Amino acid sequence: MIDIVVLNRNLRLHDNAALYYGSLNSNYIVIHLYDENYWEANGRSARQLKFSYDCLQELDDNLKTIGSKINIFEGSFDDLKKWIKTNLNDYFIHINHCTDIDYFRKGFEKFKQDFGDRLKVYDDFGLQLTNFDRDTWSKNWNHIMHSNLIDAPKVNKNTAETNLINFNEHKNKIKSKFTYLEHIQIGGTSVAKELLESFLNERCENYRVKMSSPSLSENSCSRLSPHFTYGSISIRQVYQKLNDSLPKLENKKDLYSFKKRLYWHCHFVQKLHTEPELEFNSMHRMCDSLRTEHNKEIVEKWIKGETGFPFLDACMKFLNKHGWINFRMRAMIMSFASYNMWQPWQKTSPLLAELFTDYEPGIHISQVQMQSGVTGINLPRIYSVPKQSMDQDPNSEWTKNILPQLDNFEPKFIHNAELNGAYIPQIVDLKTSAKFARDKIWGIRKSKEFKEEAKRVYLKHGSRRKRNVKTN
Ligand SMILES: Cc1cc2nc3c(=O)[nH]c(=O)nc-3n(C[C@H](O)[C@H](O)[C@H](O)COP(=O)(O)OP(=O)(O)OC[C@H]3O[C@@H](n4cnc5c(N)ncnc54)[C@H](O)[C@@H]3O)c2cc1C
Repeated sequence: MIDIVVLNRNLRLHDNAALYYGSLNSNYIVIHLYDENYWEANGRSARQLKFSYDCLQELDDNLKTIGSKINIFEGSFDDLKKWIKTNLNDYFIHINHCTDIDYFRKGFEKFKQDFGDRLKVYDDFGLQLTNFDRDTWSKNWNHIMHSNLIDAPKVNKNTAETNLINFNEHKNKIKSKFTYLEHIQIGGTSVAKELLESFLNERCENYRVKMSSPSLSENSCSRLSPHFTYGSISIRQVYQKLNDSLPKLENKKDLYSFKKRLYWHCHFVQKLHTEPELEFNSMHRMCDSLRTEHNKEIVEKWIKGETGFPFLDACMKFLNKHGWINFRMRAMIMSFASYNMWQPWQKTSPLLAELFTDYEPGIHISQVQMQSGVTGINLPRIYSVPKQSMDQDPNSEWTKNILPQLDNFEPKFIHNAELNGAYIPQIVDLKTSAKFARDKIWGIRKSKEFKEEAKRVYLKHGSRRKRNVKTN
């Protein structure tokens, strides 16, 4: 019998359940799917593909040292099913769970059903595949984080060749897609480990303050997000390294804050796993009727950073170039689209996701909904672009660096976007659009039905963290 390990977004050697258990008989093949349609689906993009290929490259190199390698299957889950059934007789499939967009989920669910008891799905990071009960979720999460890390896979003694393509040959075929992406983060386990070391030992100083500044956060945030998304390091590896190091480290408060976010990561992904419809529907169903008119023209200006508000435009241009921006700026960008532009989040969310190298649907979709006021369980917050500009870039140096045409303006004119025709026109009026949004949102929140539906959302998705999780 041969073991087949199918890797999705878990591209690391250690603490990888499917890879380890699939290797125990020392007779296995490792397969990664390249499905062109997936990379063109809701929110996916070439920058994410590039990052995942950096991770695959390192994993392929590591696997070669133990007699194994990455085989690429070009096609969908359904095509892979046919290939397995045609080419192999006696086999068992090992696969890690992955919470992803609808396109992936449908293919994955069908694949699991088709193979039935010839396939095992393993949990990945802090997600709980069958426990949808939020009352016990945090406790279970702590347990997962403290359980033993899984060893590296065993040496592979299987020498039989398949007609699958090896990784380097396949990469050469598609690498032209990556040529314009030199500013995005680099993937791979060794980079993830270096980032973790430098964050714990130096960069985390004043993390809690610096994380919101667009200029300081580039260095002061961990920058691990795409590594978690593509699994070049596991959340449990990071959690345990952090716990082991904490007693020796300074900046404890900053690190507790970081630890809390590891929990949030899983907490948000769990929402999409529990309710996959959230990819298309608002968590609070009454909110789907709020915004119905889609204005393609202003959405296009927003995504390119041509709104007429310098600080917001600088954030968008930075994100377009680097594939990353900090949490607060993401929240402001989204709040502007959903409140000031009053656009349905379903139209803006995938465009924003395409720009993120770290696009993690569970986090992205939940955060988009939070910043659009459609969850029912979070208080709506309309970010003021002038206030963020003043607070986070008081001297406008960062903004001017990205928009050098504003070099001669004093910061107060840049914050308030009062540039007397020297900059592009504004796509909305900030004050009237914010008032319109506030009236609409608070109008709908008053009703009894709204409150009842909000209770349902809380029971299904609300964090009970205060009671159950030790974050320090
Ligand atoms: C509209 C919007 C969309 C977002 N989309 C994504 C996304 O697609 N992928 C993604 O990883 N994060 C997303 N975030 C959350 C957050 O902005 C990023 O996780 C963070 O900026 C990544 O940088 P970092 O790794 O340096 O974070 P750090 O501050 O170093 O945090 C460490 C880790 O904690 C987790 N984390 C941090 N903040 C949050 C949060 N608010 N919610 C959940 N987990 C968090 C991430 O895994 C992150 O890597 C989004 C936030 C908003 C407002």
